[in-house]
Amino acid sequence: MRLVLIGPPGAGKGTQAALLSAALGVPHISTGELFRDHGARGTALGRDAERYVESGELVPDEVTVEMVRLRLDEPDTGRGFVLDGFPRTVAQADGLEALLSGAGLRLDAVVELTAPEQVLVDRLLGRGRQDDTEEVIRNRQRVYHRDTAPLLSHYADLLVSVQAVGPVEKIAEEVLASLPAQAP
Ligand code: AMP
Repeated sequence: MRLVLIGPPGAGKGTQAALLSAALGVPHISTGELFRDHGARGTALGRDAERYVESGELVPDEVTVEMVRLRLDEPDTGRGFVLDGFPRTVAQADGLEALLSGAGLRLDAVVELTAPEQVLVDRLLGRGRQDDTEEVIRNRQRVYHRDTAPLLSHYADLLVSVQAVGPVEKIAEEVLASLPAQAP
């Protein structure tokens, strides 16, 4: 199963990606986590990405797609993956499409997680990550609407929308129930 999760900051992509990854037996790949991990290890990529992550801007597409290409090359993705926070632009979606079609693969579904604006902000303020100051949160929301929301129509044919409010296990069940039947 090759899945993409899309949703505004605070929609619970990370939480749902972890539950779905466990249920489906495929790795959870979060580009935000990959950037934070590179940052913590002080790699060149981490240093390049740092100022974007800190301000809530998007890391440039070429850097992000290359990082994902390397991750998807790892053998644990053979049965699929849950992508969390990638793609975030139409250019990244095109990059992903090129990576997959080069290997004769395609996405099975794109899951949009939705929640009312106030729920999103309350969740992020309660989370306490370093880039969760009110100003950076507001910027990430702006960037989502500007750069990422256009992906919803780009992926119209694969899109499943789930309201991500309530118990997290219930939401994951709803997502799983709305996925296309898996090819053998
Ligand atoms: P996240 O953990 O998904 O909230 O991502 C945290 C930050 O990492 C974002 O605010 C961006 O600066 C950066 N980031 C994560 N994923 C991407 C992506 N697909 N494209 C560009 N930047 C990203």
